[in-house]
Amino acid sequence: MKEPNPKLEPQRELLLHEIQQLARRALFGSISQTYRTCGNPGCRCHRDGPKHGPHLYVSYRGSKGKTTGYYVPRAIQEEVRQSVAAWHQLQDYLQQISDLNKQRLMEISHRKKRTFATGSS
Ligand SMILES: [Zn+2]
Repeated sequence: MKEPNPKLEPQRELLLHEIQQLARRALFGSISQTYRTCGNPGCRCHRDGPKHGPHLYVSYRGSKGKTTGYYVPRAIQEEVRQSVAAWHQLQDYLQQISDLNKQRLMEISHRKKRTFATGSS
């Protein structure tokens, strides 16, 4: 099929490229930080001392609609933050690509009007 609007295509290609990059690392969920007491009853965290943390926690709605989540190991906290940010950026780009796709379909529909009338496609 010939591209209906050559002006849209570079934008679309750019977005599709960005989307692919982001999708590679995107993580679904919201990040929260928690402070916890540990399993050692003699530890400072069970008295006046500061609790342990912050622990990064990612929560999300699972397939059955139940909220679930996991603690993030310290060594990958930064990556996880960036990956969750990538997810949000991805949603934004998907919205943009949806707009472009819509414009594209509308233009195709204008072109097809005559073809539709004769029953061929
Ligand atoms: Zn403790």
